[in-house]
Amino acid sequence: MNGSRQPIPFDCDVLVVGGGPGGSTISALLARRGWRVTLLEKASHPRFHIGESLLPANMPIFEELGALEKLRALGRLKLGADFPRADGSYYTFRFDRALGDTPPWSFQVKREDMDQMLFEHAREHGVDARERVTVEGVAFDFDGVTAQLDAQGTKSRLRARYLVDASGRDTLLGKQMKLVQRSEQHQSAALFAHYSGVAYNPDDPGGNIISVNRFEHGWAWFIPLPDGTTSVGCVCKPGYLKTRQGASNEDFMARTLAIVPGAARRMVNAERVSPIRFTGNYSYACTRMAGPRWILIGDAWAFLDPVFSSGVFLAMYSARRACDVVDGALREPAREPALQKVYAKHLRRGYARFAWFICRFNSPVMKALFADPRNVMQVEQGVISMLAGDVFDNKRVLSKLHIFKTIYAIASIMNLRRWAAERIDRRRQNRMQVAAGAE
Ligand SMILES: Cc1cc2nc3c(=O)[nH]c(=O)nc-3n(C[C@H](O)[C@H](O)[C@H](O)COP(=O)(O)OP(=O)(O)OC[C@H]3O[C@@H](n4cnc5c(N)ncnc54)[C@H](O)[C@@H]3O)c2cc1C
Repeated sequence: MNGSRQPIPFDCDVLVVGGGPGGSTISALLARRGWRVTLLEKASHPRFHIGESLLPANMPIFEELGALEKLRALGRLKLGADFPRADGSYYTFRFDRALGDTPPWSFQVKREDMDQMLFEHAREHGVDARERVTVEGVAFDFDGVTAQLDAQGTKSRLRARYLVDASGRDTLLGKQMKLVQRSEQHQSAALFAHYSGVAYNPDDPGGNIISVNRFEHGWAWFIPLPDGTTSVGCVCKPGYLKTRQGASNEDFMARTLAIVPGAARRMVNAERVSPIRFTGNYSYACTRMAGPRWILIGDAWAFLDPVFSSGVFLAMYSARRACDVVDGALREPAREPALQKVYAKHLRRGYARFAWFICRFNSPVMKALFADPRNVMQVEQGVISMLAGDVFDNKRVLSKLHIFKTIYAIASIMNLRRWAAERIDRRRQNRMQVAAGAE
């Protein structure tokens, strides 16, 4: 703490912690506005990262960054998402049926390639982007922030006027300030690997569709990647994970895929070409998103179950919005609280729209609505827009999502009635059987 209030020189205007998609995006955008940005990444690119399927709503952000053609060069076209039914058949939601202005396509990527591209892109914008530097902690004072750094054993300090925490699920500031609140509802874990020889769906010979397959204990993904391999992952509920009992990753993955409807057909000729990785998938959100001279973006603020592939979009979208906040606060410090308030409110709303669907994803009513969607009042198209990531501003889309919620509520009540009626009927039959046995 600089208690004497003597100004200490700044090494840069903005320090960005974490060189993932969120950190690289905000760094490039702030540098473009003339700010001196230092971006610190503890790993070294290219490094493995999960999160390979991107949303159409993310494409305009790549375009604004000037990185869309670079993405196109390393991505595999993605045209939609399918949600297989319990019997192994499936229903495809194609992005060209979305209601809003989102492009009808996106990409599936190897994250090590995409993240390296974005990091170098930030460097090309004049960002002082350094790898193998870990930010160990930060201390705020009356006019800035000082970070303690570790560059492979060499300790140093760096002083900035503003701090952006883009440290992903490490949530540097969230942990330091004790802001992280875990969701009790979403405490799953994921197993995943890359395979060659995975079969695509018959109506998708090019492998342009991501498949999201529900199963009894969670859901599984099949994401075709640019090099012809497929990312296969299973997100499992805690109760099921307990049944693992010492099984190797390989055995547990095989056992799990065996109970995923539609997976056996796809995996007949599959060969694993990467290690099987295992990660916790706990959803959380920080209780605050910003404060004096700091702001959180992407996973550093909140992590949602990845069932709708929303993570990279939300990281880059929040980076885009946070750029306006940081830029405005540095130019006119008095505006900082108001800018941060608008930022937090706007982002919370979008996250909540995804979260509403995620929380109900495995409910019987949602299963039925996704397995056999009807485009009554363009509601199905509204859902496709949500799947494309259009959850923030488009009033037409938001009104369709509102109608979907109403349909969901009515269907739930009807399901409840059916469930209660079935239960009464079952009890009545039991009583009749008991009575018949007594005669
Ligand atoms: C199982 C699973 C599947 C997923 N699937 C998808 C998907 O299909 N599509 C999708 O969009 N999203 C998916 N996600 C989510 C996605 O991975 C994240 O939401 C996204 O990477 C967030 O970007 P970010 O920039 O906020 O953080 P990250 O990409 O995690 O980047 C943070 C960076 O900060 C660095 N860092 C951390 N701490 C420090 C420190 N102290 N000092 C310096 N550097 C630091 C890290 O090394 C990392 O490079 C998935 C997530 C999981 C767990």
